[in-house]
Amino acid sequence: MRLNETQIAQVDAQVKRLVKSGSYYGKLYRELGITGIGSQEEFEKLPFSSKEDLRNAYPLGIQAVPDGQVVRIHSSSGTTGKPVIIPYTAKDVEDWAEMFSRCYEMAGITKEDRIQITPGYGLWTAGIGFQAGCEKLGAMAIPMGPGNTDKQLQMMVDLKATVITATSSYALLLAEEIGKRGLKDQISLKKGVIGSERWGEKMREYIRKGLGIDLYDIYGLTEIYGPGIGINCEKEAGIHYWDDYIYIEIIDPKTGEPVPDGEEGEIVITTLVKEGAPLLRFRTHDISRIIPEPCSCKSSYPRIDIIKGRSDDMFKVRGVNMFPSQVEDLLKDVDGVSSEYTITIAYDEEQNRDIMIVTAEAEGRVNFERTAAVIRGLFKSRIGITPKVTIVPVGTLPRSEKKTKRVTDYRER
Ligand code: ZN
Repeated sequence: MRLNETQIAQVDAQVKRLVKSGSYYGKLYRELGITGIGSQEEFEKLPFSSKEDLRNAYPLGIQAVPDGQVVRIHSSSGTTGKPVIIPYTAKDVEDWAEMFSRCYEMAGITKEDRIQITPGYGLWTAGIGFQAGCEKLGAMAIPMGPGNTDKQLQMMVDLKATVITATSSYALLLAEEIGKRGLKDQISLKKGVIGSERWGEKMREYIRKGLGIDLYDIYGLTEIYGPGIGINCEKEAGIHYWDDYIYIEIIDPKTGEPVPDGEEGEIVITTLVKEGAPLLRFRTHDISRIIPEPCSCKSSYPRIDIIKGRSDDMFKVRGVNMFPSQVEDLLKDVDGVSSEYTITIAYDEEQNRDIMIVTAEAEGRVNFERTAAVIRGLFKSRIGITPKVTIVPVGTLPRSEKKTKRVTDYRER
C-alpha cells in the first residue's frame, strides 16, 4: 500500500521537524543528508528505526520538542538492557485517546457501556490508554488495574460492567474464576477488548464461552503511542488501523525490501503526526500482511491480518514462512504427544530443495508410526509443507530452563 499525497506531505514535515530539532533522528538524518521526502521512492530510502536506536538514545534523546511541550512519558518493559522512554506532547496524548476511542467504536462499544480496565497503570502504556480512550468515548471507566480477583469480580457484578479489557492471560484467569464461583449469571459482560499478545484459538474459545462475550483484539506498541492503533471489526477478519495517524508497510525481514500487498512480512510503522517522539519506518518485528481487499464491514480504514508471530522466530522452508508457535499449536492437537519438539532444516542438493525434519515426543501408549503420519498430515493441511517426522519416547529431547532452541538450520545463509 503506497503513501497517499497527504501522508507524503506529513512524513516530509516530520523529517524537516526532526532535522531542525537536533534529536537523535534529526542528527542521523542530517548526517545522511536527508532533508525531506517527496515520493514513495524517497520514503523507502529513509533508514529504518528500531528499538536499538531508542536504547541508544536513552533516556530522552529521541525527544523532538522543547521540554515545555512534553506532558508525559511512557516506557516499554525491555526484557534485556535499558528500557525505552517515549515522551508525549499534549497533542500526542489527545491523538492516542482519539485512536483508542475509535477502537472501542469499531468494537460496537458506546458511551452507555461500563468498561472494566484490568491492564496495569504506570510507566506501561496499557491501563492509561484503555482509560483515556474510554473517557474520550464517554463511557464509564472502572479503573481496576490487574490482580485482586475478589475485588475485581465484586466490581464487575455490582457495577454491571459490560466490557472487560485485559491481557489474554488475565481474561482467561477471570473466565476460570467466574466459572469456579458460579458467577456467570450475575455478570453483565457483553464484549472483551484484549491486548495483542499472540493467543491460540483454544484459549479464545474458552474465554468467549466462559464469559459469554464477543472478543476484539487491540493492536499497538509503546513506541507507537501504545495499544489502540488498530483493532479487528465484528467480521473478525484482520485488524483495521488508523491510517490518518500511522502508515504501515510490510517488508521482508531479511532484505528490508517492501513486499507486495497481501504477502507476509514484518510490520514497519511510520507515525504521521506524532510530536514528542516521531518514528519513521519503525521495525516492529511483528509478522503480518496487508489485506488488500475491502472489508465486508464497509469501514474504509485499511487492514492488516492478525499478528502471526515475531520475525525473530520466523523460518522459511520452500518459500513458506513458519513460526514455532504454529508447530506448537499443531502438536497440541495430536494425541499422546508432548510439547517438546525440534526442527532441523537442511538443503538437499540431489533433490534441489529444502528438507525439514521434525522430531516430536510421544507416550508409549500410542503407535509412533501412526502418530508421525498424523503430524505429517497436519503439517500438510495447515502449513502446506510435508516434513519428515520422527517420533521418540517422552523425555528423550533435551529440556532447558531457558527458552529452548527449537530450530536448527543447516542451510547456507
Ligand atoms: Zn472490517
